[in-house]
Amino acid sequence: MSRGDRLDSIPASRRTERVRVVTTAQTTELDVQPTPLALLLLGREADPRSERGVECPGDLPSPSDPDLVERARAAKEKLGDKVFVLGHHYQRDEVIQFADVTGDSFKLARDAAARPEAEYIVFCGVHFMAESADILTSDDQKVVLPDLAAGCSMADMATAEQVAECWDVLTEAGIAEQVVPVSYMNSSADIKAFTGKHGGTICTSSNAQRALEWAFEQGEKVLFLPDQHLGRNTAVRDLGMSLEDCVLYNPHKPNGGLTAEQLRDAKMILWRGHCSVHGRFSLDSVNDVRERIPGVNVLVHPECKNEVVSAADYVGSTEYIIKALEAAPAGSKWAIGTELNLVRRLANRFAPEGKEIVFLDKTVCFCSTMNRIDLPHLVWALESLAEGNLVNRIEVDRETEQFAKLALERMLALP
Ligand code: SF4
Repeated sequence: MSRGDRLDSIPASRRTERVRVVTTAQTTELDVQPTPLALLLLGREADPRSERGVECPGDLPSPSDPDLVERARAAKEKLGDKVFVLGHHYQRDEVIQFADVTGDSFKLARDAAARPEAEYIVFCGVHFMAESADILTSDDQKVVLPDLAAGCSMADMATAEQVAECWDVLTEAGIAEQVVPVSYMNSSADIKAFTGKHGGTICTSSNAQRALEWAFEQGEKVLFLPDQHLGRNTAVRDLGMSLEDCVLYNPHKPNGGLTAEQLRDAKMILWRGHCSVHGRFSLDSVNDVRERIPGVNVLVHPECKNEVVSAADYVGSTEYIIKALEAAPAGSKWAIGTELNLVRRLANRFAPEGKEIVFLDKTVCFCSTMNRIDLPHLVWALESLAEGNLVNRIEVDRETEQFAKLALERMLALP
């Protein structure tokens, strides 16, 4: 369903099943195929404290324009080597078809840096990813995010002010000097810069274990930002810590909701942030799929809750998930706990090989902000660039970039 469609205008052939549509913004019952209805709710107002909710500054083509694919192709062709389109794994198929390369956020940023001849990097992903690409590419390369409303709710959960306040709390408790910050790639440039300034490193879901091992060689405690689940899962599963070694810092409570004693006793200080998509999977989802599909392998992303990760058969990053399914034998059955666009693409890709792949949850959950990037926005961005108009540029200021890069370089130097 396109944004302008009314529900009663959907052809009967598309009203095929009664599904419960869940996006990161709302839950509702509809007699239509799951589509990003909740996107209607986003992007209406400017919100300076968030990555989300910024209106498109130009005239978007109509979603029902039958020439959108051709227009995107023509604009891309006109730009030639001047443009390099990056497509995150969670993007829609209509967008992914125009990506020169696909991958997770860090791989894409590195791919962009390896293409210095590309003056324009069009990042089909979310805001923090475009920032990372700007940090890692040369000053001559300009990073464009087709829809500025494509933020990340997890990245929004840790602001620079909140993290600075947290550091004051750690200083008051007399432990700041023992603490090494480790920030997940899914954080704003400000948080990456804070991490660099305070001797810490960035991590991805692939190298979180190595990043934590490194951090514990530098200090006695880690402040893990902003995803509590990746931090907790890595500490408990990979470093052998107990759940009691971890405390949860809530930025909305005085002193993070923790006493100085709790902070002094903890090894892992976890920021109270989470991914709205992966946070939805529950122990019930795992138990239910095991009942429905005997012999199913449950494979989840480490951004899921600890109880879900503990009940799963396999845990890993998006790249790990893709490799595991590539290596899976014919006839095997898989329930995947990650974003739906990727799961659907993998299910279609591996079906001819006899691999049965289903979404872990019975309800349907897209990342609503990732889904902001659609074909009309991509066409608008590419055509604007082809006409010489630089639109929706994402640019990180020099000081922030310098410290964020320091933290990213520490990650690159991890053993
Ligand atoms: S899937 Fe989760 S972490 Fe990734 S962009 Fe969406 S909200 Fe952010």
